[in-house]
Amino acid sequence: METTVLKKIWLSPPHMGGNEETYVKEAFETNWIAPLGPNVQQFEKSIEDFIGNNVHAACLSSGTAAIHLGLELLGVGHGDEVICQSFTFAASANPITYLGATPIFVDSEEETWNISPALLKEAIEDRLANGEKPKAIVAVHLYGMPYKVDEIHAIAKEYDIPVIEDSAEALGSSYQGFNCGSFGDIGILSFNGNKIITTSGGGALLCKDQKTKEKAVFLATQARDNAPHYEHSHIGYNYRMSNVLAGIGRGQMEVLGDRVAARRKNYEYYREHLSDQSKITFLEEPKGSISNRWLTCILTPSFEDREGIRIALEHENIESRPLWKPMHLQPVFKNNNSYVNGVSEDLFNRGLCLPSGSSLETTDLERICGIIKSELK
Ligand SMILES: *Cc1c(COP(=O)(O)O)cnc(C)c1O
Repeated sequence: METTVLKKIWLSPPHMGGNEETYVKEAFETNWIAPLGPNVQQFEKSIEDFIGNNVHAACLSSGTAAIHLGLELLGVGHGDEVICQSFTFAASANPITYLGATPIFVDSEEETWNISPALLKEAIEDRLANGEKPKAIVAVHLYGMPYKVDEIHAIAKEYDIPVIEDSAEALGSSYQGFNCGSFGDIGILSFNGNKIITTSGGGALLCKDQKTKEKAVFLATQARDNAPHYEHSHIGYNYRMSNVLAGIGRGQMEVLGDRVAARRKNYEYYREHLSDQSKITFLEEPKGSISNRWLTCILTPSFEDREGIRIALEHENIESRPLWKPMHLQPVFKNNNSYVNGVSEDLFNRGLCLPSGSSLETTDLERICGIIKSELK
């Protein structure tokens, strides 16, 4: 008997534009294989030009490294508390612990699924009452949807607490006409393999002035003082992006607009073809917000419905994934303080990320929607 293997559909695979190899080849031909070459500088410039708002970019080995350096630049150290959006990927929170600081988790609001302004305020007041002023806030534009920028930054300003803006999933998203990545005291991007554009692995730290960028680069390159020998008065890291990978990034920046358009089109397709399924709801854009729709997420009526769809897709060789499991429910953070309203736990139980790659074809989308519809019958 013949068995046909169904074409695998991935959640969010890499999608090269064409010029990446040219820039990588350039690195080989000029022997700029070691860090800090023309590709890094050009990639940084293209990020700065894209984000605008006078942002400076330092390309690093990962988004996680960017959060780590960002926290250090904001003065986070041993024994400090840092408030972190609970509904996120672990990489938003882990670097807080690298510095010997403690994450305090804050739940989400329902409109954008990101950190709740009301709970953030409550958390800050409560920490202050405990005699601890939080040293920083990590806010996340999850799945590419901008968080409540005005409210969150007003609260941060009121209490004079700096914000790390985790834009790992939100390159190409904007709020009131300004690009995500430009709102925080420090912003971060990720070019991990599953993100909207990728360098196979990499990230960037975004900041407001050249001096902060230079400090980030100094720390990212082993904190060498100015001397002919190796002299160190700071602990450093090996976090700089390689010139070879930056070549991939240069090529990817050329097609970023197309990638955002394709992912937004995926979202529109799913919404149009699944909205007659009154059982399924989508995350809508609040007025003034544009999401890059990194991943299209659906909410189903129950955990059982969600699992039914996920498993039915898996049987057809289609990758989907439950929404992020909130940090306050993770075993590793079970002893951390958290300010919770049940929103992210409910999203985790009922939500599913659908295949959202920019290289998806209409026939793929048809196949996926067909399976979901028959599962919900
Ligand atoms: C991917 C991601 C990161 C980490 O980026 P890496 O480049 O993988 O280290 C951080 N925060 C969020 C929300 C992410 O999705």
